[in-house]
Amino acid sequence: PSLHSQRHQFVVDFVRKNKPNKVADLGCGECRLLKRLKFQRNIELLVGVDIDGAKIKKKMQGLAPLSTDYLQPTYDQLHIDLYQGSVTQRDARLRGFDLVTNIELIEHLTLPDLELFSSVVFGYMRPASVIVSTPNSEFNKLLPGLTGFRHSDHKFEWNRSEFRSWALQVCLDYGYEAEFTGVGEAPQEQQESVGFCSQIGVFQRLNVLPDRDEEEVFSYTLVYSVNY
Ligand code: SAM
Repeated sequence: PSLHSQRHQFVVDFVRKNKPNKVADLGCGECRLLKRLKFQRNIELLVGVDIDGAKIKKKMQGLAPLSTDYLQPTYDQLHIDLYQGSVTQRDARLRGFDLVTNIELIEHLTLPDLELFSSVVFGYMRPASVIVSTPNSEFNKLLPGLTGFRHSDHKFEWNRSEFRSWALQVCLDYGYEAEFTGVGEAPQEQQESVGFCSQIGVFQRLNVLPDRDEEEVFSYTLVYSVNY
């Protein structure tokens, strides 16, 4: 399977194991991950957010139920909402989730926007679990012909220790703990020295900080909504 598909499979496996009811995918792009998650029966609310409304709209009809879905007795409890909006801005409709995923998103943010992202996701949305994937720059030497970043829109690509120190600071600031893994393995003898192609942090909320009475802000625009 492609690396892209492996990252999404990582989330699907996490969902199978942890059974979250409310899941949001930030930087959902063309909704490919959401299309895989809608088959997970424990999910009641599935939300996608992307800054690029046109990108969402391209393929979103693929999230509509097929007529045969209505014949399935268990298909009565899924609601899907897609929003155009930026992860640097708060929206009250994104609070109270069990899982928020951010697949190959953070490296597209400038460092000031990354600070805002942390405060929005970990400080305001405060989901029970957060998954963040981003390129591991140590792996780049195994990518033939690559000079510079993997994509021209990337604002940074971190090695494992840079990712870890960012994540651990987020944990300290917002009361989470993190574990590190990844997808896309190097040849066996190099796995340890370069790590995974995509590095992944899995964060769990610790409930050490008191819930703050945050104001209700609505900055995202609903572009699609469907009930199963
Ligand atoms: N997560 C998808 C995936 O796994 O295929 C798409 C990853 S794509 C490399 C990055 C996505 O992040 C793009 O769809 C882009 O429009 C979106 N994005 C970039 N900056 C954003 C922001 N500030 N708020 C929300 N989405 C953003």
